[in-house]
Amino acid sequence: MKFGGTSVATVDHIRNVARHVKREVDAGHEVAVIVSAMSGATNQLVEWCREAAMLHDAREYDTVVASGEQVTSGLLAIVLQDLGMTARSWQGWQLPIRTTDAHGGARIVGIDGTELIRRFAERREVAVIAGFQGVYPTTNRITTLGRGGSDTSAVAVAAAVKSDRCDIYTDVDGVYTSDPRVVARAHRLDRIAFEEMLELASLGAKVLHVRSVELGMMHNVRIFVRSTFDKPDHIDPHATPPGTLICDEGEIVEHQIVTGIAFSKDEAQISIRRVEDKPGVAAAIFGPLAEANINVDMIVQNVSSDGVTTDLTFTVPAGDYERASTVLNRAKVAIGYERLDGATDVAKVSVIGIGMRSHAGVAAKAFRALADRGINIRAITTSEIKFSLLIDAAYTELAVRTLHSLYGLDR
Ligand code: ADP
Ligand code: ASP
Ligand code: MG
Repeated sequence: MKFGGTSVATVDHIRNVARHVKREVDAGHEVAVIVSAMSGATNQLVEWCREAAMLHDAREYDTVVASGEQVTSGLLAIVLQDLGMTARSWQGWQLPIRTTDAHGGARIVGIDGTELIRRFAERREVAVIAGFQGVYPTTNRITTLGRGGSDTSAVAVAAAVKSDRCDIYTDVDGVYTSDPRVVARAHRLDRIAFEEMLELASLGAKVLHVRSVELGMMHNVRIFVRSTFDKPDHIDPHATPPGTLICDEGEIVEHQIVTGIAFSKDEAQISIRRVEDKPGVAAAIFGPLAEANINVDMIVQNVSSDGVTTDLTFTVPAGDYERASTVLNRAKVAIGYERLDGATDVAKVSVIGIGMRSHAGVAAKAFRALADRGINIRAITTSEIKFSLLIDAAYTELAVRTLHSLYGLDR
């Protein structure tokens, strides 16, 4: 059972979580609980690091931001004990949850679940595990998994203890066809395939951390997204509550062409104007960006009109925009271009669905619908089960709602 930030926002909320846990334990289930920090806590910790020094040591950043989960894991253990259950908290380093040394965005390498299984068998002890954090064994330093990473902690623990299911309790009662905060007519999906969820998550739907879906797919963990606000004592622990199961494609009976729409405003566009149209130019541009660890996403290169120069446009994460511009300005002579134009007020809207594999013309419909609303498309990328459009950020909501209706997803 994993509980996100809003589920543990106050001690009262934590009491509510404890009742969810008690229900499952009373029903005879062996339970491990993964908790996030209280909502807003991690933002505050990140802010304090920035205030301390704009450029700070990533190891110390992890020391600071991992503390939010330490608080909630201890509090939940206390409340569970108060309800008469046996419970013990675990920090990432205690279990341990071994990770890589990529501080601030570490990947889980391994978790040994035998101690947890033994304790439950011997004395029905509930494990309360701090999400989001781990340890890099070589240096013995605390690491964190990147924002939203508690989902990944949960799926990794689920795989390590070979659990039947990994329930993600959050402030929505499942995965919707689009963010319900933006699209009032979005509806809940009963099931969604791992591959589609992977695209939805990586293209902006923050309901699940991307890496958690990847891990679920690799280790075949059944992930179930459900609401923390359902009354804990009114739920039948043996029935299937409302929620969304992330599962193999084969388990889904009815396939829609489009399953969901995601969006991200965390994008920036860079256009390199009048760059020489000759072999090696793309390498000269993207080489230095790769060296600076900047992820380039959509790339559009125009066909040269004069045979001499052309324009090249691409996107980077908004947070990397300044750095990317600096890198490219420094390499200006080596690349050989006239000027660099940038825009940070752009958004990426993506349409996802396994059905696209076998249907032509899905994207073409979107181009028409957006054009009818006067929305200009700056760049396009496609893959087997999705396509993404880069537009002005001001039109994000309009575009998302338009596409949601267009593909028949409205409730
Ligand atoms: P938690 O703190 O429990 O981890 P998050 O805030 O990380 O919760 O994720 C839940 C939020 O994800 C929801 O409140 C919702 O606004 C947002 N969201 C975005 N896209 C979707 C979607 N397709 N389905 C459901 N929720 C979504
Ligand atoms: N507390 C961390 C965050 O806010 C991890 C999580 O909630 O999943 O990013
Ligand atoms: Mg989250």
